[in-house]
Amino acid sequence: EWVNLNDFLSHILNRFDMMLKNDGVKKYKIRRIFPHQALWVEIDTDKMMQVIDNIMNNAIKYSPDGGLITIRLLQTHKHVILSVSDQGLGIPRKDLSRIFDRFYRVDKARSRKQGGTGLGLAISKEIVEAHHGKIWADSSEGNGSTFYISIPYEKMSEEGDMWDEV
Ligand code: ATP
Ligand code: MG
Repeated sequence: EWVNLNDFLSHILNRFDMMLKNDGVKKYKIRRIFPHQALWVEIDTDKMMQVIDNIMNNAIKYSPDGGLITIRLLQTHKHVILSVSDQGLGIPRKDLSRIFDRFYRVDKARSRKQGGTGLGLAISKEIVEAHHGKIWADSSEGNGSTFYISIPYEKMSEEGDMWDEV
């Protein structure tokens, strides 16, 4: 399905904003840094929603109350890059490459309290790779984490035709 990423993400993030109205949920602020122009991509919307849900839920789950979550969308020549930054616990450098493994969780005691299975990022990675994309993380322990998703995209003209890449 072809979607305008700005609209697709706004839709998901609005839902996270709405959840703040419920008592008893952890408080957080969402900051969006989106380009003005539409970014059209062909994605499996149900699956990609699952990826963004997990990354957003992780950002909330592994952050203290009141944390700021920044979502950036940017395009390079052939990719769109989505990043989600939090101000949470962070991830030790030695664990960074393993958090995408099935059932891997940083610090079992810490994670057990938070609930979850340790499958979210492994599933996210499968989904992103099925879109010919990449997912990775960067973190500074104690200062927060940033998750990146990059997916290839084709530039489109105003009319919506593909540019010919001869
Ligand atoms: P599930 O997503 O299945 O409910 P989970 O959140 O523990 O469980 P993943 O989403 O796969 O599993 O994340 C794996 C581990 O990576 C987490 O247990 C946590 O230790 C670490 N992690 C993921 N996101 C963050 C984050 N934003 N900040 C700090 N640690 C994180
Ligand atoms: Mg998770």
